[in-house]
Amino acid sequence: MGCIVNNRATARNRAGALAVTAAVGAGLAFAAPAQAAVVIDTEDLRAAVTVDGVRAHQSALQSIADNNGGTRQAGTAGHEASVDYMQALLDDAGYATWTQEFEYERATLVGSTFEQISPVAAPYLYGADYLEMEGSGDATATVTGVDLVVGDPASSTSGCEASDFAGFPAGDIALIQRGTCSFESKVLNATAAGASGVIIFNQGNGDGRTGLFAGTLGDTFADIPVISAPFDLGTTLAATEDLVVHLEVDLQIDTVVTENLLADSPTGRTDRTVVVGGHLDSVGEGPGINDNGSGTAAILETALQIAALDIPLENRVRFAFWSGEEDGLLGSSYYVSQLSKSEIKGTALNLNFDMVGSPNAVNFVYDGDGSAFGTKGPVGSALIEGVFTDFFDSEDAPTAPSGFDGRSDYLGFIEAGIPAGGLFTGAEGLKTAAEAELFGGTAGVAYDPCYHQACDTFDNVSLETLDIMSDAIAHATLTFAETTSAVNGTAKGKGLGHNKTEAEFRGSSAVR
Ligand SMILES: [Zn+2]
Repeated sequence: MGCIVNNRATARNRAGALAVTAAVGAGLAFAAPAQAAVVIDTEDLRAAVTVDGVRAHQSALQSIADNNGGTRQAGTAGHEASVDYMQALLDDAGYATWTQEFEYERATLVGSTFEQISPVAAPYLYGADYLEMEGSGDATATVTGVDLVVGDPASSTSGCEASDFAGFPAGDIALIQRGTCSFESKVLNATAAGASGVIIFNQGNGDGRTGLFAGTLGDTFADIPVISAPFDLGTTLAATEDLVVHLEVDLQIDTVVTENLLADSPTGRTDRTVVVGGHLDSVGEGPGINDNGSGTAAILETALQIAALDIPLENRVRFAFWSGEEDGLLGSSYYVSQLSKSEIKGTALNLNFDMVGSPNAVNFVYDGDGSAFGTKGPVGSALIEGVFTDFFDSEDAPTAPSGFDGRSDYLGFIEAGIPAGGLFTGAEGLKTAAEAELFGGTAGVAYDPCYHQACDTFDNVSLETLDIMSDAIAHATLTFAETTSAVNGTAKGKGLGHNKTEAEFRGSSAVR
């Protein structure tokens, strides 16, 4: 899952739907309503994809991080070595592999200060009272609220219209409330109105919309300091008469050159390519063995065992190891952006596996039909969800839905109208009592207490979870690779396959 950066991707080189029926264990078959059904037995492959096989790859990724400064972040030697490790094994197994290079700019925080000068001199705490956004600079000025609705937060359109800044004193620091439009457009409007800095406080309209949040300005680097703040602090600042603050954010901008690794099966129809992917980069803070050494190791082992069993495929499988995910889903978005119309049409679906070994896990399945979160994917996504839930049912294992909120690499695909689905076992969210009842583990504790930290190591993985998740990955990959029927997602290539305006997140940074 992603974190705060800003990116402009430029290309160096670049280099289709199916409905399924799936047999899970002897004789069990599911028929998608509208499409022809075939029976696919994945038992041999699931038996071949073992936890030990997956762990061996995780161990290799851990050693790679150990030998490269403790990280496999995009643009580092640790990521490069991860690509080399995977590519060598896939080449040996007979896959057609290549790398797709791209570059972008990453902003890294060097330092920041946020303090009240008057009426009361008081410092604010980084990480509690505020976080940086992608705006760099130093300002001391009066704070002026912009079209704030703290009494009726749900209706906030603060800063979304230029007219919101009528009468805004140029040089002041703009205090803006989250809501309706993207952070990027709020900051662009504030800059146009002459603001010397921007404070965006959370909207205040319910769960997840009150605390401190990590937000991104998309393609914008502002040359004024920009921070985010919790709703409570925002309302306090709004209510303070003649408020003067000092706001300084110092960002270092680096150009990151990195690459996606792609591996095509030697057999299978190229006009019904099944893209099975996960991100191979970690955050800078740690080795990322659960995020996402778990998904990539399971995908790699699935590919190697398909080759070892010499299974001829009906549909080409393209195994994809994305980079730049932690910087905002950049590798997968770049890959989709480089596809021609016919290549998009020839992409049957995307399966995404990001964090499938969380220590305090829940078996999350992406909510393809939108039945739980209201955001359904392009036609075909419901079928994908069904294949996963049917598999877990057949294993008498519970599942829970996870919404298409834009926090992982499926986003570029569904935005291109390509059906998508996949699995996830939880990140920083806290397990509920009901989930602990169903999945075991500990309520009130994060699904992955080491999310985005140095402790996301080889030991930060639930073997039981990784076992069933690896089986589900093998099962779904082969099920889609072998089906002979196809469902074309709607709106392929015409953007916005899902039925909501924009995703909430791009990686783990909120966009609005
Ligand atoms: Zn991740």
